[in-house]
Amino acid sequence: MEHPLWLPYCQMKTARPPEFVARNEGVTLHLADGRQLLDGIASWWTACHGYNHPDIVSAISQQAREMSHVMLGGLVHQPAIRLGERLARLIPGSNNKVFFSDSGSVAVEAALKIATQHWINQGVSGKNRFVCFQGAYHGDTAGAMSVCDPEDSMHSHFKGFLLKQFPTPIPQTENELATFKEFLSKHQSEVAGVILEPLIQMAAGIRFHSVASLRGIANVCREMGILLILDEVATGFGRTGTLFAFEQANLKPDILCVGKGLTGGSLPLAATIATDFVYQPFHSDSQSHALMHGPTYMGNPIACAAANASLDLFEKEPRLEQVHELQDWLNEYLQPLQAHPHVLDVRCRGAVGAVQLDREIPLQTATDYFVNRGCWLRPLRDVIYLAPSFPIEKPQVETLCSAIGDYLTDQW
Ligand SMILES: *Cc1c(COP(=O)(O)O)cnc(C)c1O
Repeated sequence: MEHPLWLPYCQMKTARPPEFVARNEGVTLHLADGRQLLDGIASWWTACHGYNHPDIVSAISQQAREMSHVMLGGLVHQPAIRLGERLARLIPGSNNKVFFSDSGSVAVEAALKIATQHWINQGVSGKNRFVCFQGAYHGDTAGAMSVCDPEDSMHSHFKGFLLKQFPTPIPQTENELATFKEFLSKHQSEVAGVILEPLIQMAAGIRFHSVASLRGIANVCREMGILLILDEVATGFGRTGTLFAFEQANLKPDILCVGKGLTGGSLPLAATIATDFVYQPFHSDSQSHALMHGPTYMGNPIACAAANASLDLFEKEPRLEQVHELQDWLNEYLQPLQAHPHVLDVRCRGAVGAVQLDREIPLQTATDYFVNRGCWLRPLRDVIYLAPSFPIEKPQVETLCSAIGDYLTDQW
């Protein structure tokens, strides 16, 4: 099919032609030619309630009739305020502030700028670098790319263009934590913050770390007075089994980034949430202390209405229970694949299941295989993963997992 679209992350000349989707519903993609695909990855893990949930659809159409958009410069509106109040409460403490944007990458950019200016506004100079982790993915814009995994081929062309940060392994043991603490104290005068995807590093390879690691990193940041930025764009809204991953470690981030599942996979919206402590140095009589950032469509009313409806669904429907069941099913069907000679590791947490092979998976042939089986899965380098909508049913999970099992048996 000829089309003018420049598609992401692919060699357009040789990539397999894209499937043409006409509509979607629940966990199903309906293709224009009548075929159906069972979606195992929920459009980059955004569609947590399944596609086209009637509550979100009706919130969107109602808001579109009243006001599609208005600038947030000098103006506010009810959908943004209501959502802002709910997001501000996600971090313990009062007077937290919520900064809206339209993508996870920009939420991360805002977090990096907020952390840097937090120090400048207090007259502390030189703290403008970040400690980040191997295996991280924080987005595709320049600041966000600079804190991604430094070896990641996704961004390797841009090394010379990016700011230099301080990447380090995620400390997994007491010894590694001590090394991490030393590393941080060596760079303390230059470091504005530490940025981490808590519990699951998603896009760069679905890697897990323990609650103890997360808590250890947070404690070291606290001891050293370094801001802890948690990027929950992927892990937020139930993906790891709790509404937010950081809840499992019983800690308080200084800055929290959310996106992806915020609108239940319906519209682009993201937010950067800062504690009152982080915000205070911005609150002064000096214009130069203001945050100079403002995406044109920030706080779009339709997107905010969709996000409010999505948050309501977490209260009205048993989403987290569904995630817990899903974790059991993923374990039940994926763990046996561990026996396959090319499988290095099988890991499941919350609504995420990953099968890691001992080499890169050919994306084209794998996608062909899964599409022929009526499944939509998109391997990430050496990992085949599932991150479906939470209301997916057990037989559907079984279908997806047996497609993975059969692919391994037939092709490897
Ligand atoms: C997807 C993702 C981003 C970037 O979000 P976009 O909306 O694609 O800009 C940032 N951080 C994490 C953890 C993500 O998974």
